[in-house]
Amino acid sequence: MKIYDVAVIGGGSAGVMAAIRTVLNNDECLFFPGNSNHKKKSRAFWVTTVENMPAHLGYKKGIEEPNKISLDWLSTSAFSSKFHWHKNRGIISLSQSSEGIFSLTDDKGYVYHARYVILCTGVMDVQPKINDSIEPVFQYANTQLIDYCLRCDGHHVLDKKVAIIGHSSSSAWVGIMLHERYNCPEMTILTNGETPTFDDESKALMARYGFKIVTEKIRSIVGNGKLKKLESFVTDSTSTNVDIAFVALGMIVYNELAKMVSAELDQRGFVVTDTKGKTSVEGLYVAGDLRANAKKQIYTAWDHAVDAADEINILIRRKKRTTPSHLS
Ligand SMILES: Cc1cc2nc3c(=O)[nH]c(=O)nc-3n(C[C@H](O)[C@H](O)[C@H](O)COP(=O)(O)OP(=O)(O)OC[C@H]3O[C@@H](n4cnc5c(N)ncnc54)[C@H](O)[C@@H]3O)c2cc1C
Repeated sequence: MKIYDVAVIGGGSAGVMAAIRTVLNNDECLFFPGNSNHKKKSRAFWVTTVENMPAHLGYKKGIEEPNKISLDWLSTSAFSSKFHWHKNRGIISLSQSSEGIFSLTDDKGYVYHARYVILCTGVMDVQPKINDSIEPVFQYANTQLIDYCLRCDGHHVLDKKVAIIGHSSSSAWVGIMLHERYNCPEMTILTNGETPTFDDESKALMARYGFKIVTEKIRSIVGNGKLKKLESFVTDSTSTNVDIAFVALGMIVYNELAKMVSAELDQRGFVVTDTKGKTSVEGLYVAGDLRANAKKQIYTAWDHAVDAADEINILIRRKKRTTPSHLS
């Protein structure tokens, strides 16, 4: 039975960096970036222009394009024999033997074995439903008139009329932060038919800053995403004029594989790790948005991935020190 050093599951920001670091550490790496279904449900797929990081402005698909360039290079580099890129393959099951070896089954039924796994399956932002469908937001999300990530795209609201779609305290704090930082002339919280659960401090600040709160369901969005124009959100009795909106409804966490090996999760479903990404399961590391208590950006995903791959390399090298030379 062939046992690889490391299996990297996920091909977004964290997964690609985990694969690069593992291979450049000269450890043998299986790489499963996911099938088209996984990709469409990933955050990486929906990212267009990346403005909050140097050297990314030239890409129309700010994560996927540079990732592909690096993977293509890796697969022709001096380290290519260490890189096993299973294109369009996703992992559907993960288990661990009593000796600590992981078994991974891909979506075609093939089984692989690895001593270490770096899990990078990510999360997805919850989408608002308008007349029971998430489709109406897509044309605006694709042109960044509806945004999700504060650190990535918060600066888009400078001097703009803004709506936040959400009903929790976190949604209120998104609005407060954007208003305080960027001087938005109008801020509306659209709870889209949900009962607000704002805390007292956010309620007081929203009142002080003159936020409008609309609790009716959104019936339609007026504008044209392709023409980069968002005009208003319409409910039964109101129409809220906006230039841009943020969605703050929480995240769907892709933790299924972590659950299969009983990794510890936090209350929201993110995988609990130490500072190097090590989970409660020996040999299982997590990098990127899936990790608990971490920022959810490209550069943090990269940092997690490097830490995990380097930590694994330390363990592999330590083992070499004690393995009789005729067996290594
Ligand atoms: C609209 C939007 C814009 C953003 N803009 C920015 C920005 O400008 N700057 C910034 O720093 N961050 C931005 N972010 C955040 C950034 O996208 C994430 O922090 C980053 O993609 C996280 O990387 P990740 O690898 O953890 O997850 P992802 O990039 O989401 O990748 C998850 C990967 O897991 C794979 N996968 C899932 N399940 C399986 C499986 N079972 N088997 C195999 N593979 C699987 C998927 O195919 C995918 O490749 C943005 C996010 C959104 C939603």
